[in-house]
Amino acid sequence: MSNAGLTGRWQGALMDNYGTPRIPIVRGEGARLWDADGREYLDFVGGIAVNSLGTAHPAVVRAVSDQIAVLGHVSNLFVAEPPVALAERLLRLFGRPGRVYFANSGAEAVEAAFKIGRRTGRPHLVATEGGFHGRTMGALALTGQPAKREPFLPLPGEVTHVPYGDADALRAVVTEETALVIVEPVQGESGVVVPPEGYLAEVREITAATGTLLVLDEVQTGVGRTGHWFACQAQGVEPDVVTLAKGLGGGLPIGATVAFGEAAELLAPGQHGSTFGGNPVVCAAALAVLDTIEREGLLDHVKRIGGRLRDAVWGLGHPLVDQVRGVGLLLGIVLTEPVAPQVQKAAQEAGFLVNACAPDVVRLAPPLILGEEEADALVRSLPAVLDAVDGTRRAGD
Ligand code: PMP
Repeated sequence: MSNAGLTGRWQGALMDNYGTPRIPIVRGEGARLWDADGREYLDFVGGIAVNSLGTAHPAVVRAVSDQIAVLGHVSNLFVAEPPVALAERLLRLFGRPGRVYFANSGAEAVEAAFKIGRRTGRPHLVATEGGFHGRTMGALALTGQPAKREPFLPLPGEVTHVPYGDADALRAVVTEETALVIVEPVQGESGVVVPPEGYLAEVREITAATGTLLVLDEVQTGVGRTGHWFACQAQGVEPDVVTLAKGLGGGLPIGATVAFGEAAELLAPGQHGSTFGGNPVVCAAALAVLDTIEREGLLDHVKRIGGRLRDAVWGLGHPLVDQVRGVGLLLGIVLTEPVAPQVQKAAQEAGFLVNACAPDVVRLAPPLILGEEEADALVRSLPAVLDAVDGTRRAGD
């Protein structure tokens, strides 16, 4: 199958939601991917922070094939062992009593959190500027990116967006009429934006004072990505609701809304649901992901390899790099110029997949199993990649 053939086909049949050229990928192993022409890439995108164990990890392959051979789907009229075990496991990792709702994506996990907020009877919701919570209408109402919202107005809710990382701005708008505040521990999509130290704890304090639910959107930061099971744990913050997705399924579609305390009781039977949510095969894959993270000590590994990668990229001292920020294996290389798409393209030509998530930010969200040699390979190639972009930019000045 030629690259051009596959490219031509998707351009015709798949809706072009993203408007950027996409490389046809045919297979992978660990942190490596191969395209339709047999070219090998090191994968620092990870399906956008999804492939926590890389591609084709034996534990996930085994869990999926064992489960589908026994029971693939039961619907919400019945219950099966894998979703029950996964819910118990997640609650154990949080160390708090609660309840879990399973869906199929991050946006759906957020929709359930939105509905939990509605059930407080309070009309007002607060989210952050630049925040990303998904593209379904409720999640989009919470998303703080005007270009994504504006084509779809009006959106549900009475939502106020406040600057991210600014606890005073939040304090000024949260009242006893506010159902929920939704925040990402690190803003992923808008450029790996890390809030000031102590921000999440202040958000917790502000929401607690008005009896407002604190929803932490850990769709991108959860399940080991930051070197902790959940980013909120590093801050000692206990939210009322956490949304998870992405890395939880190890490449299979899953969303989870984890609600604690009173928040866990707000949705009454019959008020929410999903045909595929809690699918046994997907939950078996998620259990394999959690087992493997634990068994292989991946939380410590992520802290170590993420720190090494961040320091090494910064240590290159390249004039095009303004800052390297992020936590664990969610890193943003902030450029001095809005040339991230060009860096993405030059990196791809050099055999590395990275993601321009903002005009001036290149995001790295590789599999949590990324090896030292793989991290170092990117670092060794980056000077030439950045020089190529810098040279073109200068020639165009
Ligand atoms: N919340 C956050 C923090 C995300 O990063 C994303 C996806 N980038 C979503 C929600 C939406 O997830 P999905 O694309 O699975 O609907």
